[in-house]
Amino acid sequence: MKIVCIGRNYRAHIEELENIRPKHPVLFIKPDTSILQKKQPFFIPHFTDEIHYEVEVMIKINRIGKHIEQEFAPKYYSQVGLGIDFTARTLQNDLKSKGLPWEKAKAFDGSALIGKWFDKNQFEDINAISFSLKKNDTVVQEGNTSQMLWKIDELISYCSKFFTLKIGDVLFTGTPSGVGPVVEGDVLKGFIKSEEAFLVKIK
Ligand code: ZN
Repeated sequence: MKIVCIGRNYRAHIEELENIRPKHPVLFIKPDTSILQKKQPFFIPHFTDEIHYEVEVMIKINRIGKHIEQEFAPKYYSQVGLGIDFTARTLQNDLKSKGLPWEKAKAFDGSALIGKWFDKNQFEDINAISFSLKKNDTVVQEGNTSQMLWKIDELISYCSKFFTLKIGDVLFTGTPSGVGPVVEGDVLKGFIKSEEAFLVKIK
């Protein structure tokens, strides 16, 4: 399986990183080796001392598709969740400034935290799901899927133009503003509506 990630999908986050609003969604891929094993802590990797959290709504693909029309996109997922796209930010900025690919900063082992999955029918409106991230019991990120520049069904359609989406693939749909660093000893907790979706310790 693969993880397809969307960058720059929330205006306030684009502004905080001083990025330019893209004309099309920014896509990158994390391999299956990037998945943080369940209930394991996140270990800050040796190659960086600056790791940022990015809390993101995820959807899980439940049938194979290529060139999916937006109106049919809802047939391709039945579960929604919350995860973290861990990012080695200084390394990413360095790669970005040189026009190089981001993989070393975004796709390293353990960089994808996949939290609990919820039935999408649990949510009244897929485009109005609130979510948040707490670091050591302080809310650091808050978002709502209504703030996305490209909505979930548009993203599925767009991604499937480039990558065949297969059963079990996961889409990370971008992070709202409030991204920031973690240090050893931090505890991150994610909430989708008021339900806890994950808890991870930083080591
Ligand atoms: Zn992200």
